[in-house]
Amino acid sequence: MEIIKAKSTGYCSGVGNCVKKLREFKKKTNVFVYGPLTNNNKVVEMLDKEGVKTVETNPEVIVDGILAIRAHGVTDKEIEKLSENNEVLDLTCPKINKIHALSKSYEKKGYHIVFLGLKDHPEAKGIIGNLENYSFITSLENIPEIKEEKIVVLAQTTIVKANFEKLVNELKKTHPDLIVLDTICDETYNRQEEIKEMEVDAFIVVGHKKSNNTRHLYEIAKEIKPTYWINESSELNLDELKDKKVGLLSGSTVPNKTINKIMEELLPKVKKISDNRFLVTSDKGECYEVDLAMPFCECKGFYYNKRECKHIKLAREFSNQ
Ligand code: SF4
Repeated sequence: MEIIKAKSTGYCSGVGNCVKKLREFKKKTNVFVYGPLTNNNKVVEMLDKEGVKTVETNPEVIVDGILAIRAHGVTDKEIEKLSENNEVLDLTCPKINKIHALSKSYEKKGYHIVFLGLKDHPEAKGIIGNLENYSFITSLENIPEIKEEKIVVLAQTTIVKANFEKLVNELKKTHPDLIVLDTICDETYNRQEEIKEMEVDAFIVVGHKKSNNTRHLYEIAKEIKPTYWINESSELNLDELKDKKVGLLSGSTVPNKTINKIMEELLPKVKKISDNRFLVTSDKGECYEVDLAMPFCECKGFYYNKRECKHIKLAREFSNQ
């Protein structure tokens, strides 16, 4: 198997910033996160082990330490209420804060806000929770009739751009003068676009099944090539991927450490280069040539007559398979 890792993998800047700041503050005081930081349980568990605890999203909550607002953000009222009894650390992603600011400002100017988002998603709840004059569109099959004349259309940051464009085109039929604010996160968009440029036989998408941005990657990839959506390499049937060129993608809540581990687990440690000669990758990622006829391994630069090194053993095991 050959693996082509996508250019953008690992945390997006919003989630990465949250993890970094939570760790920094944890060194000084108790830190609690208002709701799970991401849908990826592994990240939540990892932070929990480091002492960063998650609390239920309830504006009445009181903690002994700092209460952090995750990248998804919350409504203004919620933050106000939480700040009455807590020291609040607002880690809302700047790109989501921008949607809050834009939607509120257009509403103030008398516009009706049409927002395309995912039902029950915390980011969407935070944004529309600040508005009164809005239509929340959660499905393109069910676009309500919009009676207001002045409308602005925007979207949750992780929506698929093609769906946003479909909505805009539909609304233009009745509202030719509508204002379109493309609020889709460029990092999300770039990950989706990159899939179309990768010349591979199959895709592996790493990310939690509840993660919407990972679901979108999966849906785009599976339209192009066979796609496997996994959390761990053990979920793959390696026989199906043997001799394939595979594109490795990840959702925005998966740490790069996880992606690299999966790559390490999937890539063969031993490659045959001729009858008795092999290339063996060590645990540290160094590559050595082994000749089983001698036997010889490059790691020490001389022939082994008595004691065989680890790489020779690996090559021998491989050749006996
Ligand atoms: S996906 Fe984009 S908007 Fe959402 S948290 Fe990450 S960087 Fe921010």
